Amino acid sequence: MRTLFLTALMCLSLLGDAHIFVYHRFGDATHASTNTSIEILTKHFEYFKKHNYEVIPLSKLSHALKSGAKIPDNWVVLNIDDSYKSFYENALAVFKKYGYPFTLFVYIEATEKSYGDFMSWGQIQDASRYGEIALHSYSHPHMTSLSHEEIVKDTQKAYNIFEAKMGFKPKYYAYPYGEYTEATKKAIQSFDFDLIMNQNSGATNHLSDPYDLDRIALTGDVYLKPKLAIKALNAIWIEPKNYPKDGNLKRIHAKITPSINRVEYYISGYGWKDTKVTQGDVNITLKRKLKFSRNRLFLKSGNYQSSIILVKQ
Ligand SMILES: [Zn+2]
Repeated sequence: MRTLFLTALMCLSLLGDAHIFVYHRFGDATHASTNTSIEILTKHFEYFKKHNYEVIPLSKLSHALKSGAKIPDNWVVLNIDDSYKSFYENALAVFKKYGYPFTLFVYIEATEKSYGDFMSWGQIQDASRYGEIALHSYSHPHMTSLSHEEIVKDTQKAYNIFEAKMGFKPKYYAYPYGEYTEATKKAIQSFDFDLIMNQNSGATNHLSDPYDLDRIALTGDVYLKPKLAIKALNAIWIEPKNYPKDGNLKRIHAKITPSINRVEYYISGYGWKDTKVTQGDVNITLKRKLKFSRNRLFLKSGNYQSSIILVKQ
């Protein structure tokens, strides 16, 4: 029985959980840091096809999460942030060719004010025939520096314009720059979104929080295999919750599954260290001056990982 169980566990560990990837610009070499060439996009799609990944719409993942159903390991969801024109002009044809659905997160002000690099409402409406359209704020602000009222105001404005232009309410929201705190989450959750997306570079399983879904950013020539091997650690982060007021990180405290007895942890600028875990209680006393205004913290055990972002307010 035990051998059977271990064998099953080993088989399972060969595949990661479901993954949500996020792209930005396509075939636009003038913005290398957020760009994916059409050649690389095609390479990614061929990889999904060859290795039997099922590219599903975000709505399908949403339904599975809400019903508590098991999330298949081979599910892949494709998000596109910012609604750049290069998606419509260069990449949409590729999505259509493969029949791969997508969710486009619209930066409302850029489209409203016809900023040069961004899709028009007509283009977004046309794209909605092949994928889902969702919200990426009105003014694309750094949310962590806004008050609750300012976040609600930005979101309400974006929500109203979206509904008027698209004829339906947005169901999904992605934080600009992937930056948020508990307070940001609370403000965005006061709207009736089904899902809220971060950019914490993790995987999704049936235990994932629908209002805190990890997405893995893909820019440039990313090798997909290690990304697709990532599994959800489902850590409950107790401390830190926010960027510490004095900039000193004194503790990492999180709850993880009790079967894991060692984790590696990462702090931006400090690299990886490893530590013992007792009964699923990760409790690390530290003395680390955070080096950046935007820092990532990771917990990892084998392919299982969880991360948070700490942004100076
Ligand atoms: Zn954005």
